[in-house]
Amino acid sequence: MRRAHDVVIIGAGVVGTSIAYHLSKHGVDAVLLDRGDIAGGTSSACDGHVLTIDKNPGYDSRLAQKSQAILHDLIQQLPLDAGYRNWGSVLAVESEEDMEAAERFAESKREHGTAIRLMDRAEMRADAPNLAEDIAGGILCGSDSVINPMALAFGLAEGARQNGVELQPFTEVSAIDLDEKGVCAVRTDRGTIFTRAAVCAAGVWSPRIAATVGIQLPIRPRKGHVLVAEQDRLPYWRNMLEFGYLMAKRGVPREVEPDMEQCGVAFVFERTVAGNFLLGSSREFVGFEPGVNPEVVRLMARRAERFFPCIADVHIIRVYTGFRPYTPDHRPIISPVDEAPGFFVAAGHEGNGIGLAAITGRLISDMVLGKEPIVDPSPLLLERFAAN
Ligand SMILES: Cc1cc2nc3c(=O)[nH]c(=O)nc-3n(C[C@H](O)[C@H](O)[C@H](O)COP(=O)(O)OP(=O)(O)OC[C@H]3O[C@@H](n4cnc5c(N)ncnc54)[C@H](O)[C@@H]3O)c2cc1C
Repeated sequence: MRRAHDVVIIGAGVVGTSIAYHLSKHGVDAVLLDRGDIAGGTSSACDGHVLTIDKNPGYDSRLAQKSQAILHDLIQQLPLDAGYRNWGSVLAVESEEDMEAAERFAESKREHGTAIRLMDRAEMRADAPNLAEDIAGGILCGSDSVINPMALAFGLAEGARQNGVELQPFTEVSAIDLDEKGVCAVRTDRGTIFTRAAVCAAGVWSPRIAATVGIQLPIRPRKGHVLVAEQDRLPYWRNMLEFGYLMAKRGVPREVEPDMEQCGVAFVFERTVAGNFLLGSSREFVGFEPGVNPEVVRLMARRAERFFPCIADVHIIRVYTGFRPYTPDHRPIISPVDEAPGFFVAAGHEGNGIGLAAITGRLISDMVLGKEPIVDPSPLLLERFAAN
């Protein structure tokens, strides 16, 4: 391990590897560290949706679309196939009453430039013949896609390595050191690395690292379960989410069974390249408790059957849990830190980190290199929490 680098990136999930890859394209002398293997954190315990459809109209939608566009190009450059498929996604709307809210949502998204359109009951039936007959309609977003998050992280890391970035897995960071100019070193269990720039991309574990330079990050683990179904029993060819998922994600009360409400259960369906499908979602604040809760699994399965009754006899072959890095305003922190010059944060992507990894890598690269940022980063800066 070399003892000095221009930039040290901490965390090799989709976010850290994207930062490493973007910096590597400029020939930056960087090292990418992780206490485990590449993609050993949340990026291997999640789904792989790359979505615009679920983002708030306005800044959040534009950011997600920009990230989709960057990813679309990036994917052609990577040395590994990351299973990227542009199948589009659909928000399924349960009732005519909800269709009115869905229309307003779609209209507002269109006004902000998202290519999105309503599907009535008949069109939904034609697109998804296995869907429950009483589903009133849906919203289709054709730019949405799916990717294998682990393959994406490995592809980005390998691309960065080929461009000269040093990869250091199984190296745990214990602290960042500051001197009168700012960041001067990163301490690890394999020695100290001298540097003037450190990027914290440690996902839900970022607050521990930031605390060593006296910075508090408002990031909390929001646990989610994922159910993996057997191969070759696909009920649908695109990805699908229930309209109520938007409320579950934002913690807004919904008209579902109290148990489902309590565990934030909302139907999410993801088709994988391998021919399996993944079912989500749940959202809970239970600290870092990683266990699979059979009751949550049962609720998620029941919610999925409500939309696709034909999957009742499909085997679930695996269940896993992961921790979304939650922030109070549901936006990531992509930011330099004024109090610690040379320290950057790229964390807190909650349930959007796979989709936003590409734009995050590009933005942090712009910030570290002092370039004009590709998008206005103001809503993503750490200082937005200062007044709270
Ligand atoms: C159930 C679930 C479903 C999801 N579905 C989607 C989805 O469909 N689409 C989407 O866009 N997002 C989704 N997400 C969110 C997405 O997975 C995360 O936002 C994303 O993976 C965060 O990536 P990251 O690189 O910031 O963090 P991580 O992948 O957690 O990477 C952080 C890395 O930092 C390392 N680290 C921690 N501490 C240290 C240390 N002290 N020293 C060195 N290394 C350290 C860890 O080992 C880890 O590898 C989902 C999340 C969950 C839980």
